[in-house]
Amino acid sequence: MITRTTNAAHAKTAKLPTTSAPNADWHAIVAAAVREPRELLELLELPAALLPAAQRAASQFPLRVPRGFLARMRRGDPNDPLLRQVLPLAEELSDADPGFNIDPVGDLNAMTTPGLLHKYHGRALLVTTGACAVHCRYCFRRHFPYAGASTHATNLDKAVAQIAADDSLSELILSGGDPLSLANSRLAALAEAIRPIRHLRRLRLHTRLPVVVPERIDAGLLAWIDSLPVPLITVLHINHAQEIDSHVLDALAPLRQRAVTLLNQAVLLKGVNDRVTDQIALSERLFTSGILPYYLHALDRVKGAAHFDVAEQTARVLMQQLRAKLPGYLVPKLVREIAGADAKTPL
Ligand SMILES: *Cc1c(COP(=O)(O)O)cnc(C)c1O
Ligand code: SF4
Repeated sequence: MITRTTNAAHAKTAKLPTTSAPNADWHAIVAAAVREPRELLELLELPAALLPAAQRAASQFPLRVPRGFLARMRRGDPNDPLLRQVLPLAEELSDADPGFNIDPVGDLNAMTTPGLLHKYHGRALLVTTGACAVHCRYCFRRHFPYAGASTHATNLDKAVAQIAADDSLSELILSGGDPLSLANSRLAALAEAIRPIRHLRRLRLHTRLPVVVPERIDAGLLAWIDSLPVPLITVLHINHAQEIDSHVLDALAPLRQRAVTLLNQAVLLKGVNDRVTDQIALSERLFTSGILPYYLHALDRVKGAAHFDVAEQTARVLMQQLRAKLPGYLVPKLVREIAGADAKTPL
């Protein structure tokens, strides 16, 4: 008994196996992510009673948590806002959530060639890969058929030909999966493929990697950014202020130096960031990090994520409270993606 207590007390103050050497290879860090529910619970000193459900849900959509991200979670707290985003729960297996389906935003209808989504005027989106460094339980593409519908292994030539043939397109968005899970050499190949397309005036990345694995911003990626023919916009996906630690701040500094436009989109998630204090703290922390809030997304109604849903009326009240507390430029736009609409729809 005494030994166990002592060990537990020690563990509370010991540092988690988190931080990687500053120059550690990001591929290795991504590969070393926690993938076993049992290990997640042990590292965070959470009750073993959570394990059976976590294992069942993870068999549908695997667990994946980079260790540096895990280090920002509070130990012993099953309600930690970062943990809630990654912990597989029994609720995910429910079949009884009307309106929640496997293609909630009409991606498959908007695919003009495998891997290329064209929904809105002037911008098209490439699904560059199915890989992500972290698996977010609310992910709207958690059922996406990446194998045949990304440009990772094949399909890139056709997608690029379509972009080249449509001069109404001024912006290309690299998405996924997470486009920064591609090696720098693949990003370089993408940039070369679009370099001749004169009507593209902006390139945009939607990524979570700089937050969950800050080591991803390596010298090769910075050289890639310097080589781009057009300005780069990076939309980070940060849901809670606690996700931004000093490693993230340091990693973003060279992007700020390069005048990369840094924006954030969050998803409004019950139990993660649905209190006004969470949203204020997030906006303040984003500003400190050189990032401006862009969108706050109402949850895409993907099968397995209904327990994250926040009622629209609750979301509107939250936005009123935010507007009363923050300067306008720190208030994100509350939107919902509706299949078939010509833009994200303001709520
Ligand atoms: C969300 C999305 C965009 C980007 O929309 P913005 O309002 O420009 O941020 C572009 N293409 C697709 C397919 C999208 O889902
Ligand atoms: S990083 Fe994005 S695409 Fe990947 S699991 Fe999370 S929400 Fe889904």
